Order: sequence, then structure tokens, then C-alpha cells
Amino acid sequence: MRIGHGYDVHAFEAGDNIILGGVRIPHNQAFRAHSDGDVLLHALTDALLGAAALGDIGRHFPDTDPQFCNADSRDLLREAYAKVKHLGCTCISADMTVVAQRPKLSEWLPDMTRNIALDLGMPLNRVNIKATTSEKLGFCGREEGIEAYAVVLLDETPIS
Ligand code: MG
Repeated sequence: MRIGHGYDVHAFEAGDNIILGGVRIPHNQAFRAHSDGDVLLHALTDALLGAAALGDIGRHFPDTDPQFCNADSRDLLREAYAKVKHLGCTCISADMTVVAQRPKLSEWLPDMTRNIALDLGMPLNRVNIKATTSEKLGFCGREEGIEAYAVVLLDETPIS
């Protein structure tokens, strides 16, 4: 088994929606980012790369590369996971936490979970996303941005 942890933050700017877990969510702000700013998928991608000792998302998809301008983070997630699987590792558990004062995310969690399970080829009962506020404390509490944490478990049992 290999464990991986990921963390990401994106700040808000003017806008009318955000993308989290591949789901477009109406909001009175947007993420300031080179890609689509999907902070949840970025944390998850980093956790997968971390568990496989493959560095981080910035190494594989540099934000200085115009190729990744407005990139769909689901594409980046799938591409990163393909590299992980190439090493013989399979993700068997993923647990994530999104910290956001607003918008309220509970109604969107099932769609986000389904997107991630699809992209990683995992059953729904091995993918979990939690949403919490930060009780109005810190930058999340002031609604300046959103942060996300992810933990994954990889199985590298050789196929015999
Ligand atoms: Mg990011």
C-alpha cells in the first residue's frame, strides 16, 4: 500500500461560477487560476502523484505552459492517474475535504463524487467528499478563496 496526501487553494476573483470536482456551480465569484481552478481535483491529483512518488501537479502540468491554459482539471486528473497506473498502482480509496464558507456544497457532492469515481475507474463506495466551512475564520471564512485536502490509498500488489 502507498498513501498520498494533496492540498490546494484557489483565490476568488469576479465571476459567476466555480468548478469543483468537475461540476460547474453557480456562485457570485470565480476562481483566479491558469486552469479551470478546480481546487478539489488539484488536491486529489497531487495525492495520487504523491502516493506514487511522482512529484506534484506543477511538475507534470506547469502553469507557465500555455497548453494548460483553461485546462479541464478532469483531463489532468485522468492523465496523472494514467502515469500512476503505469507504475502498477491502483487507487483503492480516496477521501477529500473542501473548505468553503460559501457556496453551500452539499447538493453538489454526489455529482462530484460520481465524476471522480468515473475518472479513476473506482466504485462509488470508495470515493468520499466532505464539505465544511471554516466557521468564518481565515481566508476561507472571509470568502477570499477555497481550499481542499485529499488522501488516497494506492495498492501496488503485482498482478501474478
Ligand atoms: Mg490548483
